[in-house]
Amino acid sequence: MTSNPFLTERLQGFGTTIFTQMSALALETQSVNLGQGFPDTDGPEEVAQAARHAIRNGHNQYPPLPGIPSLRRAVSEHRARFRGQEFDPNGEIVITAGATEALAAAMLALTGPGDEVVTFEPYYDSYAAGIALSGATRRVVTLRAPDWTFDLDELRAAFTADTKAFLLNTPHNPTGKVFTRDELALIAELCCEHDVVAITDEVYEHLVFDGVHHALATFPGMAERTLTVSSAGKIFSFTGWKVGWACGPADLVTAVRTAKQFLTFAGGGPFQHAVAVGLRLGDDFYVDYTAQMQAKRDRLSAGLADAGLDVLPTQGTYFASCDITSIGETNGIDFCLTLPERAGVVAVPSMAFFDNQDEGASIIRFAFCKKNEVIDEAIARLKAGLS
Ligand code: PMP
Ligand code: GLN
Repeated sequence: MTSNPFLTERLQGFGTTIFTQMSALALETQSVNLGQGFPDTDGPEEVAQAARHAIRNGHNQYPPLPGIPSLRRAVSEHRARFRGQEFDPNGEIVITAGATEALAAAMLALTGPGDEVVTFEPYYDSYAAGIALSGATRRVVTLRAPDWTFDLDELRAAFTADTKAFLLNTPHNPTGKVFTRDELALIAELCCEHDVVAITDEVYEHLVFDGVHHALATFPGMAERTLTVSSAGKIFSFTGWKVGWACGPADLVTAVRTAKQFLTFAGGGPFQHAVAVGLRLGDDFYVDYTAQMQAKRDRLSAGLADAGLDVLPTQGTYFASCDITSIGETNGIDFCLTLPERAGVVAVPSMAFFDNQDEGASIIRFAFCKKNEVIDEAIARLKAGLS
């Protein structure tokens, strides 16, 4: 990668995100885009209608810095209803410009030069950038295919006297792993033992097909040290609205809010009103949504296997991964760059999410949050192109 003389030292090497690159490639080659994870259908009509209503009714100026009160109350009710967590809407919740801003603001507010942040690899790309922006150092612990387990000794060794924060993502992008209760209990113990803040990215919390989603903040000793992050983008299939939130003890949330006020201050006014409506939808919506996405997971996974790919199990999220070793390939980046030409399909090389490139070299990720006919078209193309 060529370096940009204008780009600050901290951001050297970050270039353009893999999602942007692969979506551009899909457009350029007219490929079926199973790269960037965004749904190709809108979310619930009543939520879209609430946004239109809010725009028509004058909710178009800056919302308050922490978010509109009715959304903070809705987030509080949602966390209590689904996770058994208690947050005071006044002080323990801040509404952000998507989970991305919550995570970046958390890094900027809670960590700095000399601090270390532990996270698993593969990791969602903004984690590395957020840690770099804050000047802290990341230490990664590898999740290994095919079941994406980790070595407990490696995890223990990653915690040092300088560890300031542990950044967890469950359900996990890009692997589709849902961390088990036992794994989370171990992580919680280490966070408590080393007096470390946990930041949990739970944006796929309603996309769990196998296993159960547990919030790290609900483990003993964790409520007082955990910032829980989630986002309406993934819950309601309105990823462009960029409404997210961070919940936690008042001091943690105040710290995040302090950084957040100088990033965007506030945003998404009318969408905040709509998300408040969405979070209060009945259980039917949530059950149907998970079932629909599970059927898509099954449809794509079966099709990829039919096309001769070695599909790894995925328990949640929008994503299914494949190991391309079984088809005689070793380098996911090369494979994904030539796949449009070979098959007219775009996937994402998981290597982009690893520090230790060898660990993820042969893994690629497909998004299944697409219309059935789009999934079927991709499968037909892959069958023809890879045979
Ligand atoms: N975390 C993970 C794991 C993601 O996959 C994404 C992408 N949706 C985000 C955070 C960012 O979420 P948002 O679009 O709400 O900023
Ligand atoms: N979260 C999406 C993914 O993992 C991408 C979002 C983005 O492009 N920043 O594919």
